[in-house]
Amino acid sequence: MAQIDGLPPLSDVIRTHELSAKKSLGQNFLLDLNLTAKIARQAGDLSGCDVLEVGPGPGGLTRGLLAEGARRVLAIEKDARCLPALDEIAQAYPGQLLVINGDALDVDPLAHLTPPIRVAANLPYNVGTELLVRWLTPKAWPPFWQSLTLMFQREVANRIVATPGSKAYGRLAVLAQWRSDPRIVMELPPEAFVPAPKVHSAVVHLDALPTPRFDADPAKLSRVVATAFNQRRKMLRSALKGMAPDIEDRLLAAGLKPTERAEQVPLEGFCALARQF
Ligand code: SAM
Repeated sequence: MAQIDGLPPLSDVIRTHELSAKKSLGQNFLLDLNLTAKIARQAGDLSGCDVLEVGPGPGGLTRGLLAEGARRVLAIEKDARCLPALDEIAQAYPGQLLVINGDALDVDPLAHLTPPIRVAANLPYNVGTELLVRWLTPKAWPPFWQSLTLMFQREVANRIVATPGSKAYGRLAVLAQWRSDPRIVMELPPEAFVPAPKVHSAVVHLDALPTPRFDADPAKLSRVVATAFNQRRKMLRSALKGMAPDIEDRLLAAGLKPTERAEQVPLEGFCALARQF
């Protein structure tokens, strides 16, 4: 195991602090510090950046981020059992690690961090997509973050980078590709985690674009896309008919065929349709 800092190996940390994994909190821990350092490197140049980490758990990725030179890390962890382990890391990096015991959905990172800010996390599966959608759909753009480097179940990662015409193409692909440049940068087998989940995982890196690729209001785009893909096998005119009585006219005005299915519509088409509302 790599000696990236003077702290004990993660298996010892887990044993000392009795951090048996809780399924309800999506706890699958990474114990290999080589791997967490590699993930931290995928986040880009961290020197001069503050980093938001959601769900540090025993702190493997946190240690990677600090060892890679992050100016400051804000780590939000719901499980209070992890706090003593995280406190040991804070002591090894004085003034550089702020830990908040709470729900990441309730914390405003800008109250604690200074731009430029990067986000890096091995996300809990239960709030992962909700957080991603939030980070992608603020009213104003550019957002508080410069990049997101996030571990998801591989199936979710595939949905984020999917292109029109594929089964994985849907709301996540449209929202992610509208305002950022997402790519899968690492794949991990179940055995990389303790306990091993049933599925493979992947790390997605998203760089925020300076401006969205096409003009659209985030709330309207989000609603149009969610409604269209809710019945993805249906033609757009029936999938979207609840949104407006004159939906066929709006589809035509957006340059879309009412008989098309959501799966075939490129990002530009969804943005044009959102502008019709
Ligand atoms: N980063 C660690 C690692 O890579 O080993 C742990 C990752 S584990 C997949 C997800 C972590 O998120 C757990 O430590 C869990 O307690 C925490 N968590 C779950 N829901 C959360 C929430 N709503 N807000 C903050 N942390 C949460």
